[in-house]
Amino acid sequence: MDRAAQTFPTLTPAQIERIASVGRRTTSPAGEVLFDAGDQNTRFFVVISGGIEIVQPVGDIERPVVVHRAGQFTGEINMLSARRSLVRARTTEPSELVVADREALRRLVQRDAELSEIFLRAFILRRLELMNAANQDLVLLGSRHSADTMRIKEFLARNGQPFTYQDVETDPGVQALLDQFHVGVNEVPVVVCHGGHVLKNPSIETLASLTGLDPQLDSSTVRDVVIVGAGPGGLAAAVYGASEGLDVLVLEETAPGGQAGTSSRIENYLGFPTGISGQALAGRALTQAEKFGAEVAIGRRVVRLNCDERPYRLHLSDGQEVRTRAIVIASGVKYRKLDLPSLSRFEGVGVFYSATHLEGQLCQGEEIAIVGGGNSAGQAAVYLSQQARHVQILVRGPGLADSMSRYLIQRIDGSPNIDLAPRCQVVALEGEGRLERVTWQHLDTGERKTRPIANLFLMTGADPHTDWLEGCLVLDEKKFVKTGADLGAEDLAGARWALPRRPYLMETSIPGVFCVGDARANSVKRVASAVGEGAICVQLLHRALQDL
Ligand SMILES: Cc1cc2nc3c(=O)[nH]c(=O)nc-3n(C[C@H](O)[C@H](O)[C@H](O)COP(=O)(O)OP(=O)(O)OC[C@H]3O[C@@H](n4cnc5c(N)ncnc54)[C@H](O)[C@@H]3O)c2cc1C
Repeated sequence: MDRAAQTFPTLTPAQIERIASVGRRTTSPAGEVLFDAGDQNTRFFVVISGGIEIVQPVGDIERPVVVHRAGQFTGEINMLSARRSLVRARTTEPSELVVADREALRRLVQRDAELSEIFLRAFILRRLELMNAANQDLVLLGSRHSADTMRIKEFLARNGQPFTYQDVETDPGVQALLDQFHVGVNEVPVVVCHGGHVLKNPSIETLASLTGLDPQLDSSTVRDVVIVGAGPGGLAAAVYGASEGLDVLVLEETAPGGQAGTSSRIENYLGFPTGISGQALAGRALTQAEKFGAEVAIGRRVVRLNCDERPYRLHLSDGQEVRTRAIVIASGVKYRKLDLPSLSRFEGVGVFYSATHLEGQLCQGEEIAIVGGGNSAGQAAVYLSQQARHVQILVRGPGLADSMSRYLIQRIDGSPNIDLAPRCQVVALEGEGRLERVTWQHLDTGERKTRPIANLFLMTGADPHTDWLEGCLVLDEKKFVKTGADLGAEDLAGARWALPRRPYLMETSIPGVFCVGDARANSVKRVASAVGEGAICVQLLHRALQDL
């Protein structure tokens, strides 16, 4: 089947009958708007006779997308989530239709494998087409030298939200737009949305609400399980939890995919021999979780867990609360980063946080740099020196003796192509499309050095996202969450563990609160292991729920 037929398929009479059994038949006069851009929770329509035109409003004009004829259906990826519609749907003539609401459609795709495949493929392809359209109704005016512009760009792109970007430094027409919306050039980034509404430097919460990525949460509902974090671990727990009938809510601060979502190509994840981009993997996992009925709220940061009461209560940054019988902590880690606005442009395209065989291949015969003075930096330097022509280690301290194992220091000393630059800090990253040059500065003399370096490794450690758990459950000395066999008798006594059994694998010092993935003490920091842990913990969570 060609791509157009997959994007806009025609259903058979038998398939339409199955949809009609969860919806109802109706008629509509010519020119009726069935749903509009900006609407949330739009209904789903199948054309029996007549037609529905789909247009994308951009400012005052309507960009034609498609006309659905007999046997064709409306909808894209927003049919499975609370995202706002990007398009307007209007009947072209008096039409006979089948209409179903979002919940009915979701239940149908869960039990009808044939329709599930047709719908999900079409919905994903339609969203991609909308994203690739040249002019979008949502416009970001920004500067490539502004970290806030990068923050907004990354949020919109990683959440699959179509937008048009205009850069004040390079796009000739941008001044006219700024004048039109009475915005000074120093006030960017600015988001101009449907109807000409202007948002100056909006927060992630505001953007999430604008695009409908954060469904309304009902604080009186007690969920079976709330998952904090939509990285690989959290999304896996959501897929398995929801598919096994649990009422699942996922709370995510920025975008699905977590750290993996920022990787340009994951090559060691089972089943993808040619690799897959982190964003594609995250998008598929999100659709899968939503298909099974998990609710995913983006732009929602958990700031505190109240573990003294049952059901547990989670406090969000906007003051809202969520109550739940069980929790999966999947909040991952944050690699310590350089405080440079250009950093995110080069992550995955010259800036790396691990030094595996994959990165090693990129360094053949090259000059590279490693930031960090710990063992991971030492191991990376020794390993990469076998491929690279020259390895420059950059540390802020006076040397390596206080932070690196003796054996690694000896190997570094014995490697003619590794040099150490103590008391130095990276101050600039440059390149078109990918990293090409790195500049560092001596902290005492201020002297700067720029080198043609296309591969920079940041080995400055990672901090777990566990501030919101402090005082509630047992963490290790580096603030990672202790679980299962890692919890000693003292830990459990201190946490007032009251059950006759010990914590299950991945269960924390609080019954029914599990932790998976990178935030867990002694975890393997890999996509596959986070996914595996997310899947396994659901089995144990069913058992834990019986004790609560
Ligand atoms: C650039 C890069 C490339 C990588 N490449 C590979 C690779 O090729 N292969 C591989 O196996 N591994 C790779 N990794 C490692 C891999 O991505 C991680 O091991 C994996 O993502 C861990 O998954 P996780 O679900 O535990 O946590 P994370 O991926 O860290 O996700 C945690 C999520 O929780 C959210 N969150 C945190 N705190 C809160 C809060 N309080 N409230 C709400 N949400 C919160 C975060 O926003 C984030 O989305 C890479 C990592 C990076 C950074």
